[in-house]
Amino acid sequence: MNKSDSGAAAKRLRKNIKGINLKVPLTRKKRRRYIHFDNAASTPALESVLNDLGEFLEWYSGVHRGTGHKSMLSSRAYDESHGIIGQFLNADPERDSVIIVNNTTEAINKLSHCLQLKPSDVVISSDMEHHSNDLPWRGKAVVEYVRVDKDGMLDLEHLAAILKRSWPRVRLLTICGASNVTGHVNDIHRLAEMAHEYGARIMVDGAQLIPHCSFDMKAHTDPGHIDFVAFSGHKIFAPYGAGALIGPREVFAGSPPHFTGGGTVKVVMKKRVYWADPPDRDEAGSPNVSGTYALARTLAYLKQLGMDKLQEHEEGLTRYLLEQMTRLDGVTVYGRAQRIGVVSFNINGLPHALVGAILCYEAGIGTRTGCFCAQNYVRNLLKLEENHSHVQLYDQKRNDKIPGMVRVSLAGYNTQDEVDYLLQWIRNILENKYDFRQRYRFFAPSGSFMPVKGRVAAWNLSWRK
Ligand code: PMP
Repeated sequence: MNKSDSGAAAKRLRKNIKGINLKVPLTRKKRRRYIHFDNAASTPALESVLNDLGEFLEWYSGVHRGTGHKSMLSSRAYDESHGIIGQFLNADPERDSVIIVNNTTEAINKLSHCLQLKPSDVVISSDMEHHSNDLPWRGKAVVEYVRVDKDGMLDLEHLAAILKRSWPRVRLLTICGASNVTGHVNDIHRLAEMAHEYGARIMVDGAQLIPHCSFDMKAHTDPGHIDFVAFSGHKIFAPYGAGALIGPREVFAGSPPHFTGGGTVKVVMKKRVYWADPPDRDEAGSPNVSGTYALARTLAYLKQLGMDKLQEHEEGLTRYLLEQMTRLDGVTVYGRAQRIGVVSFNINGLPHALVGAILCYEAGIGTRTGCFCAQNYVRNLLKLEENHSHVQLYDQKRNDKIPGMVRVSLAGYNTQDEVDYLLQWIRNILENKYDFRQRYRFFAPSGSFMPVKGRVAAWNLSWRK
């Protein structure tokens, strides 16, 4: 693949982004084209998929239980979408089930139920996880956390030691494919080999990794096989409320459903229930047919465009951003170089929330600030101890004092010009720290900084023309 291939794919993707030319109001009555550098939270939608969805909606109906043409077509689209989603990750159609969920958080909660853990079982998580891949495991088994080093990389020796001492009680290694804070990518197939050696399965929280590269669960017979994957559509250009949990059918078939009710059963008698086969038994109630269809169309589009090409483009931008940022005096960048397009940093002497506000109100750049639902990891990177007095700061939304970072997260459609513009603004903030401090005030009710003059309140924005 040459550079022009990846550039062309990125351009095609950009053309297909809904709202790419959206303008937002800035202070001093200016307006500017918005730059979305908060892709790790949610990515924008695709025009082509919106068109596909519009066509599909003419035929939309409830699935599986109707005998009309609409229901039959919708059922087919819904079932085929499961297959397309599985194919995107190279799941095994014979052995794996694709279960549609709302998001990664729901997927992980569901898995924590379906594994039917005993309190003495061991689940290994890590200190770099999002809360969604930590809290669902607590209270269901003994949870061990793999340490991270000072740069936030997983400590593999510590993992090996935990596996060794937890055998044979260790059931699962549950780990992020990529961090939503540092963007660090874990060697998931190597981790799978380590877990399998001790008879444990692996679950990859793919919320951040899957949108940035081609993902291969590998054959079940391969020691590097990924047993379970969870991800969210809204982080991969499909913000229609569907995500997926994928894993061995036998596991889901061997557990009662997480939620029970319509759609989860074959036969219901007064005293006995025969549960439906996966995935139906784990998709309780009327499913999100249009969201699932839109997710499948999005993944089919991205596959055709080439995830490898988009990855190469994003890697180039990330390398450039990191090179430039690490040269800036007064900026602390967290983590090491090798990563997806997620870069978290602080400008020394300024609260993260203030930097985020300046980028929003003056530059029209969307980022995110705080701890990104990964408080333990962020505390580690900031070298802070747990501090119970912080609870009060969270209660009072004191985002001017709560420890955190500013996160810039890229996707395959972002451009070098956008990165340059961000860098120019970071330099501007560094050079005019004092000035910016005077121009903003912390606004306690919303927990955010606002410009003293030329305030553009988010709730005054009008999106209806
Ligand atoms: N895991 C990681 C690594 C994430 O970044 C996120 C979202 N920020 C989640 C899990 C949870 O995803 P969702 O909110 O879509 O459930």
